[in-house]
Amino acid sequence: MPPSHRLIPKEVPDTPARPGTFRRIVQIFRPYRGKVTLVALLILLTAGLGLINPLLIKSAFKTLLSDGPPEEQLRRLYWIVGVMVVTPIVTGLLGLWQTYVNNIVGQNVMQDLRNSLYAHLQHMPLRFFTSTRTGEIQSRLSNDVGGVQAVLTDTASSIFSNIATVISTLVVMFILSWQLTLLTLAVVPAFLVLSRKVGKVRRDVSGRTQESLADLTAHMQETLSVSGILLSKAFGRQSYEIDRFRKENRRLSQLEIKRTMVGRGFFSLVGIFFSITPAFVYLVAGYLLFRGRLEQGPEELVATIAAFTTLQSRLFFPMGQLLNVNVEIQSSLALFDRIFEYLDLERDITDHDGAIELNPREVRGEVRFNDVWFRYDRPGKERSQDERLWTIGGVDFTARPGELVALVGPSGAGKTTLTYLLPRLYDVDRGSVEIDGIDVRDIRLESLGEVIGMVTQETYLFNATVRDNLRYGDPDATDEELVEAAKAAHIYDRIVEMPDGFDTRVGERGYKMSGGEKQRLAIARVVLKDPSILILDEATSALDTHSERLVQEALTPLMKGRTTVAIAHRLSTILAADTILYLDKGRIIERGSHAELLARGGAYSALYHEQFSDGRVETRCEDGLVLASGEVVPEI
Ligand code: ADP
Repeated sequence: MPPSHRLIPKEVPDTPARPGTFRRIVQIFRPYRGKVTLVALLILLTAGLGLINPLLIKSAFKTLLSDGPPEEQLRRLYWIVGVMVVTPIVTGLLGLWQTYVNNIVGQNVMQDLRNSLYAHLQHMPLRFFTSTRTGEIQSRLSNDVGGVQAVLTDTASSIFSNIATVISTLVVMFILSWQLTLLTLAVVPAFLVLSRKVGKVRRDVSGRTQESLADLTAHMQETLSVSGILLSKAFGRQSYEIDRFRKENRRLSQLEIKRTMVGRGFFSLVGIFFSITPAFVYLVAGYLLFRGRLEQGPEELVATIAAFTTLQSRLFFPMGQLLNVNVEIQSSLALFDRIFEYLDLERDITDHDGAIELNPREVRGEVRFNDVWFRYDRPGKERSQDERLWTIGGVDFTARPGELVALVGPSGAGKTTLTYLLPRLYDVDRGSVEIDGIDVRDIRLESLGEVIGMVTQETYLFNATVRDNLRYGDPDATDEELVEAAKAAHIYDRIVEMPDGFDTRVGERGYKMSGGEKQRLAIARVVLKDPSILILDEATSALDTHSERLVQEALTPLMKGRTTVAIAHRLSTILAADTILYLDKGRIIERGSHAELLARGGAYSALYHEQFSDGRVETRCEDGLVLASGEVVPEI
């Protein structure tokens, strides 16, 4: 890889790598130590082989210039030429082998890092994802690990091979002629100073290029996602976005040109020194010859010069690269550090030793909230002791197996938060949440996930087929079971109407489906999962009357036989509830059945009159009131 394309940060990080980083990197390589040793040996071997030809050049010259018997001289020459032809071929093959083994090690280490990072992130608590930008997480997984690959397959071995080349070349040069070697070394400082300067500019330009590239990528990611494009279209901001993109894009091209030019500058510098130094060598040789200061014969001198100038050409390029070693090592350590930082993130919601495995078939589904307190800010940070600031305060209730508990109350009251505590998306700060009398913190997380089903407002579908999305609920479901579930969720007719039926792709996040369809698919997914406990967050977004009715019809049987905690927005759910909890500022301020709460004339009754009976009743029918949503509810 030409030096201009190496991954070079804008500047050497000020903070030294965290202690232990180096030891951890060595640990990562431990499983591949055999291969790493092989790479090192191959590098040494190639560096050594590289010296053979310059030495043979000397022998060739001597053979050509000396006056031995011609036949014998010619035979010598055959041998020399033969070895000269074979050596580069062998070196080339060894180089290929080295690159291959090196890449295997690099790719394996990368694979290990990516795997452990992904697995670690999968187990990070929700809190981590709500407070970290998605782009940031993705960038660590792809860019940082990718950067590490460049380090592993390129930097590390190139540093080693450069050192080996420089040292071995210098040793042989010294053996050939210490005077000429000193002469060569005299020009090295000038070369070093100049390449250091070029290197600095190169780093600076590289850093700015990477920044600009990151900006451009972030801009594309934000504006070309479905939500982003919706926003820019809805606000008529396309030309603004195009303009912004153009400016950044122009900056990037200019930087790229600069970067190429600076990289080219480095090569020119090496080239100049390549050409100039032999000239000096000839000058000194001439001086020694003409001033009669020669200890050996002129043939020996000519042969030495020929070998020497060839060796010189091996010196400058690796030397130039070694100048940046410090930067490269620092930036590699920084990259590893960023990955280790993520790997070290605490997973505060984990299984403890001896956590219980629930048998989904045996779970009765009793849910108990025991004087539960919760707040979003993390423990350990400065926290005010003011209890009014807690998101959930002293919530206490029981849902017996099969019962429906409806949570109602104003927006921001903590209803969603409360439901998150059951599957341990967050852990309570005080009190406990129990299933069948077992604290959820004592249940293995995976098995907890198996007994709870969630139908949320924001239905998330993968960009895969309808079938794959449904199977997420039960990977072993048969086709008949899929059909049954789809029918139960009132989505079957719609699925068979789709171009490829169950094999239709749902589009990015299910954008190809309407809100009601997505919800019904999500319901079918939970039907397949068949959990004992259901958490239901009813959509507030207005569905059309028909969809609303279909969703409602799908939900009613779903709740049957399962303990359900529902954030209720539909009157029919509220009316069907065994208990209604009215939540305000994280506290239960009223609890009871619909009739009881209505009779009390408190907060619930006010909510009911405001939301359900006020102006939203379309008409009356035999069964009761027909609401604007199409729901039919008994008249109270
Ligand atoms: P509801 O579902 O009743 O509308 P929520 O449970 O969503 O209420 O929110 C309760 C309170 O917690 C709100 O004040 C909200 O701003 C806050 N909140 C919700 N999610 C977070 C979060 N991830 N971090 C910090 N505060 C949050």
